Amino acid sequence: MWLFPRLSSPQPVLVSIAKETSNNDKLTQALHRAADLADPKIRRRFREAADKLTDYDEQELVDALQRGDLNRALFILNIQDFPALFLTVSPEITALAIRAVEITLANLATRRVQVDIVRVNPRAVAWARRYSSKLVVEIGDTTREALRTIIADGLQAGNNPRVIARDIRQVIGLNTQRAKAVQNYRTRLEAAGEKGIERKVERHAAKQLRDRAETIARTEAINSVSAARYIAMDTAYDLGQLPRSVKRKWIPAANACPKVCAPMRGQVVGMKEDFIAGDGRRIKHPGAHVLCRCSEATVF
Ligand SMILES: [Zn+2]
Repeated sequence: MWLFPRLSSPQPVLVSIAKETSNNDKLTQALHRAADLADPKIRRRFREAADKLTDYDEQELVDALQRGDLNRALFILNIQDFPALFLTVSPEITALAIRAVEITLANLATRRVQVDIVRVNPRAVAWARRYSSKLVVEIGDTTREALRTIIADGLQAGNNPRVIARDIRQVIGLNTQRAKAVQNYRTRLEAAGEKGIERKVERHAAKQLRDRAETIARTEAINSVSAARYIAMDTAYDLGQLPRSVKRKWIPAANACPKVCAPMRGQVVGMKEDFIAGDGRRIKHPGAHVLCRCSEATVF
């Protein structure tokens, strides 16, 4: 049992929480549920933005490719607007972070740790702003990089500008890895002399775009709730409402990756300390990588 300095809570803070480990699980479950609910919204925002990428003048693009003018081609594809286009993802991430703060504070309240949401939200919102602006730049950059690669490869191979333009239309919105996967798929079909190649490639490209949207949404939703949990706990800690001895324990997801996450099983760190991932990276809170579903438990 610990006694904490009280700040805003009127009732005496008598905390007996040593055995409430199941509450941690409930918190993780509640946060992951909130993340899963937000997931389709984030996905939709990404898809809406990606759909707008196809809004360019095909003939102008072909003309630029004809001249071998890579920069002009990228300009016609509006790559300068890419990060701004994906900004629509940001409000969903902020809303989810705020929701996760509410869930975490409600959970803390069951432990008689009362933290005013007004103290936590500005930090969570600031995090979400910083985080999502980095994210949209990254999505924009990787999407642009894919186009640059497809165009450069096409020009270098001496492909017909119309062929390059067709390839671009099919992979726009993807990152380089996924765009290359689509191209490799086409190469395989062509080599095998398959019929109906255009339709098959289009279907494959559409699936890659769906998968990318899903990967982004899942990853960012879990990151948002994990960060919000950390911020809420850390604020309570800073306010002296959690014991100095409080610790955080890494709980790997059931399918945790063997290189990064699984080695962190049971790793316990202080509120202000980082976890050390299997690859040596310092990690403030889960997730550790794309599609990571690990969580942390608070150890009192
Ligand atoms: Zn993980």
